[in-house]
Amino acid sequence: MPVDMDKIVSLCKRRGFVFQSSEIYGGLGSCWDYGPMGVELKRNVKDAWWKAIVQERNDVVGIDTSIMMHPRVWEASGHVDSFTDPLVECKACHFRWRATEVSDQRCPKCGGELTEPRMFNLMFKTLMGPVEEEASTIYLRPETAQGIFVNFENVVSTSRKKLPLGIAQIGKSFRNEITPGNFVFRTREFEHMELEYFVKQGTDEQWLDYWVKERFDWYIELGIKKENLRLRQHGRNELAHYAKDCYDVEYLFPMGWSELEGIANRGDYDLSQHAKHSGRDLSYYDAESGERYVPYVIEPSAGVDRSFLAFLIDAYDEEEIGGETRTVLHLHPSLAPVTVAVLPLSRNERLTPLAKEVHKQLCQSFMTYYDDSQSIGRRYRRQDETGTPFCVTIDFQSLEDNQVTIRERDSLAQIRVPIEGLAEILQAKLGGEAFDTSPLWATRQP
Ligand code: ATP
Repeated sequence: MPVDMDKIVSLCKRRGFVFQSSEIYGGLGSCWDYGPMGVELKRNVKDAWWKAIVQERNDVVGIDTSIMMHPRVWEASGHVDSFTDPLVECKACHFRWRATEVSDQRCPKCGGELTEPRMFNLMFKTLMGPVEEEASTIYLRPETAQGIFVNFENVVSTSRKKLPLGIAQIGKSFRNEITPGNFVFRTREFEHMELEYFVKQGTDEQWLDYWVKERFDWYIELGIKKENLRLRQHGRNELAHYAKDCYDVEYLFPMGWSELEGIANRGDYDLSQHAKHSGRDLSYYDAESGERYVPYVIEPSAGVDRSFLAFLIDAYDEEEIGGETRTVLHLHPSLAPVTVAVLPLSRNERLTPLAKEVHKQLCQSFMTYYDDSQSIGRRYRRQDETGTPFCVTIDFQSLEDNQVTIRERDSLAQIRVPIEGLAEILQAKLGGEAFDTSPLWATRQP
């Protein structure tokens, strides 16, 4: 049973993951700010994606394109004409709904009568230029993909790579969603992680299968439980006009199964459209076969914020330990906002110098957090709530034997190790080395 969304929202506020945007002015609907813990988790999600998609591969390169683009990009891509949702409005309470959300022609909020659907473009418009009357209307990008397509020629000619070739990008996107909600699941400003993988026609179906599997496995490797993840192929009538085929990776969110990522076979639609509208030849010359063709593209498109939410929900647990409830995030260590907390047993002038020294040693290699306020038990619980995999405790015995205690978040095992080489020991544990929980030197304590 998935956790209640309210519990996640409350933990996020309490522990500095996510705050309502402009809160002191009453908040701005569906806009959220990532706090000190949230920004680390979000960065780790993006880093994990970049590592798997760009760093560990020889056939993908990265790019970072501007949010504002030439308005003709969005004419060519089809967004000006068809990036629309049918919208209905309640005649009584004036609440607006996506037409697909209302099943019985009555307002789900007040039961009032609804208007006929009208098409609503989801792109945000703004004006570029210092003088409003002369300025031109431009759009905030609703996806990062088009920045990739319009740079296809630049990247191919400068990267000296052959097809199949992927171009990856992480960045902000904006959509004037009719009904944002469910916390950071659907917002008007969010971050995309998109890969456009260019292939030869005829190999596209195989590559789609390949990427669907890669992307599904990525979430599992980062700790999402298999039973909370599923694949759904789009029906023919559901496919976007340009798509040949599409799969959604869906996660069992508190509100039910919902899209986490889409993986589409977009055919040669995008490059052909931009070639037509720009007058540039965007075909690819294959020197080995002597052929020239417009590549097909496979697009895995994921949301940073939605993945962030799924990882949080999946990691959330409340456990009974020694008659007390412990709230813990079992986050994958590579996603956890803080990897190691350094905790002197108490704020004592004899302990502080050594604790600071340990902290200095560890912060070179890990995201660390130094905390010497309140009881050690309360500090452990705070670290559990933010998902810190390891706590290192410095006590009075440490002053004698130069050893510290490492406490592991999930097993609650504690082991005593020398300060010298502590970073290497932690690195090995992060790499999967088992905790030696033999009774001689390990204890399990809340
Ligand atoms: P939905 O059907 O939920 O509106 P979509 O099919 O329009 O999503 P895509 O255009 O395929 O979404 O974007 C890819 C991914 O980007 C989505 O799977 C989701 O993770 C993320 N995403 C899209 N829109 C939003 C949004 N408004 N807020 C947060 N994330 C979003």
